[in-house]
Amino acid sequence: MQTFRFELGELPPEAEALRAEVREFLREELGDAAPVRRAHSWGGFDREFSKKMGARGWIAMTWPKRYGGHERSALERYVVLEEMLAAGAPVSAHWIADRQSGPLLLRFGTEAQRQKFLPAIARGELSFAIGMSEPDSGSDLASLRTRAERVPGGYRVNGTKVWTSNAHLADYMIATFRTSHDPAKKHEGLSQFLVDTKLPGITMSPIIDLAGSHHFNMVVFEDAFVPEDMRVGDEGAGWKQVTTELAFERSGPERYLSSLRLIIETIREVGAEPGERAAVTIGRLVAHLATLRQMSLSVAGMLQAGQNPNLEASVVKDVGTSFEQEIPETIHSLLGVEPRLGSGSDFERTLGFLTEHAPSFSLRGGTREVLRGIIARGLGLR
Ligand SMILES: Cc1cc2nc3c(=O)[nH]c(=O)nc-3n(C[C@H](O)[C@H](O)[C@H](O)COP(=O)(O)OP(=O)(O)OC[C@H]3O[C@@H](n4cnc5c(N)ncnc54)[C@H](O)[C@@H]3O)c2cc1C
Repeated sequence: MQTFRFELGELPPEAEALRAEVREFLREELGDAAPVRRAHSWGGFDREFSKKMGARGWIAMTWPKRYGGHERSALERYVVLEEMLAAGAPVSAHWIADRQSGPLLLRFGTEAQRQKFLPAIARGELSFAIGMSEPDSGSDLASLRTRAERVPGGYRVNGTKVWTSNAHLADYMIATFRTSHDPAKKHEGLSQFLVDTKLPGITMSPIIDLAGSHHFNMVVFEDAFVPEDMRVGDEGAGWKQVTTELAFERSGPERYLSSLRLIIETIREVGAEPGERAAVTIGRLVAHLATLRQMSLSVAGMLQAGQNPNLEASVVKDVGTSFEQEIPETIHSLLGVEPRLGSGSDFERTLGFLTEHAPSFSLRGGTREVLRGIIARGLGLR
């Protein structure tokens, strides 16, 4: 039976040197931003911030220089990500493109697509959304029904995408559509496209989340024309590409750091001499955090070595999202502070924000149950 393999690794000196530079930049950029704002973690959207990141060379860090990348190591990229997330920097405007849309184009895009999109992503100028889920297709993504029919010069698209994060702010969406249909072979006949979000025939409406904010959208395609040269990869090869794309979004520090701000604020709250219960709780959280970080770093090390750590990455996402999800309730039971929204102390509002958002941590990017099915398959158990 296949097993997991995590290896302890040290960060190389150049990665630690970079950390100091990133911290200095974040101190200048974020100043005394409130804890609740920092708790938004990778949810904050700020194009100017992304352009500054691009100018520093901190987007597209591992990509080839000929596409605007910087040919740095996966471990250096890791340091930049963890510092951004730990500080609660507003990375959303470049996050999706840096993490998955760009790598997808690097692997499957045409040379013309790479030349057009990758340098602009690297400069922090282009923002991407993910068009996968549909009203009746979430976990069972292969059942998606939005149709892209061939017409002269391209495709005519009809259907609806849902939960599309930041599509109303993004320039492009990597969308998966059905280009042919055989009910017996639902994983075949899917194709991916680069869709300009401003195309005629696309209507977006906001979906307001539980916390009253707008980052989700419903995106309706009505006879929208997508040119042929915007198809990514071969027609019908979408399923393999989508699963590759989803693998890019597992295991990074964003899968265990979402509630970090609350740990930091709790340490501040209990002060230098915490009671025994607080010390035990915080100690346990920090021990879990350190272990998860090592596991996640190990995956980054394997990626750097050109290996394919899909199974380990899925484990990090499963354990990591469970960890970040439990923190608000753990802190609530420890301190008895009530979570609050809108008003209240910084601490109460940080607790309130994370209590409201924590349920989504194990849904975004594919649910816990589905991820565990993938792990079981990787282990040869199903
Ligand atoms: C914060 C957030 C951001 C998101 N952003 C995007 C985005 O930008 N683009 C995008 O396309 N989508 C996005 N999504 C959607 C997300 O990918 C889906 O919500 C997710 O895949 C689950 O699909 P669903 O909501 O349709 O639930 P369903 O698939 O209906 O699942 C409902 C429940 O049944 C369980 N379940 C389903 N199938 C199985 C199975 N085979 N075995 C065991 N249990 C099962 C699930 O685990 C879940 O608990 C986002 C979601 C969240 C929460």
